[in-house]
Amino acid sequence: MIVRKDDQYAVECFAKVSEICIQKGEYCDSEEEAIQWVEYECWIFSGEGWICIDCHDTFMGNMVKMRKIRGSDGIEGPKKPEGHDGLDGDLEVGIDIVR
Ligand SMILES: [Zn+2]
Repeated sequence: MIVRKDDQYAVECFAKVSEICIQKGEYCDSEEEAIQWVEYECWIFSGEGWICIDCHDTFMGNMVKMRKIRGSDGIEGPKKPEGHDGLDGDLEVGIDIVR
């Protein structure tokens, strides 16, 4: 989760799903400062690692899309009544052509 380079520490983004993901936070002198940096940048701790705000937005956007796809299904129109009412012979009656 935390990458180290030349005695500097940076928190790495756990998700990296966003096209504009910055991949990792700024390098700091200690792990604590690196975590403070991502907290300040509003990164979200998922339980497994830190996720940058851009990846978090991408995740949330995908979830909203999924919900929309699911919601468009399962709508049934009213059922047509079965059987005849004996009106078959009266179809021509009532059709009025306006001249
Ligand atoms: Zn990210």
